[in-house]
Amino acid sequence: MNTPLPGRLVLLGHPVSHSLSPAFQNAALRAAGIPLVYEALDVPPEALPGVLRALVADRCAGNVTIPHKGAVYRACDDRSPLAERAGAVNTFWIDAAGKLVGDNTDVAGIEALADAVGVSRTSAQVALLGSGGSASAVCAAIERWPGARVRVFARTPARGAALAERFPSLVHLAESAADAVSGATVVINATPIGMRHDDLPVAIDALPRDARVMDLVYRPGETRWVREARAAGHAALDGIEMLLHQGAAAFERWFGRAPDLAVMRDALVRAAAR
Ligand code: NAP
Repeated sequence: MNTPLPGRLVLLGHPVSHSLSPAFQNAALRAAGIPLVYEALDVPPEALPGVLRALVADRCAGNVTIPHKGAVYRACDDRSPLAERAGAVNTFWIDAAGKLVGDNTDVAGIEALADAVGVSRTSAQVALLGSGGSASAVCAAIERWPGARVRVFARTPARGAALAERFPSLVHLAESAADAVSGATVVINATPIGMRHDDLPVAIDALPRDARVMDLVYRPGETRWVREARAAGHAALDGIEMLLHQGAAAFERWFGRAPDLAVMRDALVRAAAR
């Protein structure tokens, strides 16, 4: 927890202009009367080390998004146990000793999304599509669920193997997306499929009856996958709930108090509809 006010509050990404985080974090800051502005910083990978040095010197805090979650993880002096498990940092601050501390609040966001879509955690049979940074955060969440099992379809087998190595007692690799979803009680899209086009991460008719559908992707009007899964009778939600709750958890880490979630949600929903 980092209770003294940070020098600046930033989002590090490349690109970041599309991010909805400034809209809802700034609404929460105003509601809490905190005199800071959350700024999105577009940082190309080669500039990251220098930017991080300057942020540490100014005792800044913030979030990290694509493609910097792994690099910031490696740059941190201290990391939370969840950041260690996920191998990625999406939230950072500078502690009293001047150390760069990293956490992973995507895990809290994923659990909030799972709750919102009505996932039953005990003995969940999870199909996970994708094996990148957010897939790793999904596994860090699910390994705390009793009796859960995860079948991963990875487009690049080496990345699937790396995820299975990180979570050996949880992750099993599948040959195809259809193979991964067979018998699943929860199906999670952790690829960017559906973000810009109307492609589907897996066909709707491959989803087992009653499977809950979690799409980490979000876009105005929801993704086609979520819309069609819901039309076919599945409980289905996109990544907005995850985005909201990872941001709320980050706010708590920075300021030692919870944000006004209703204010945050309202600002996010309005920004997402634009
Ligand atoms: P990442 O580290 O780049 O991983 C992306 C994964 O998707 C990789 O396994 C990649 O496979 C796979 N992939 C990409 N295109 C594919 C395709 N056409 N077919 C099959 N697999 C494909 O990205 P990430 O950080 O995990 O994020 C993934 C998505 O989650 C993002 O695009 C974002 O929309 C969403 N997200 C949402 C939130 C939220 O708060 N809602 C937070 C984080 C992420 P390769 O290894 O073969 O490239």
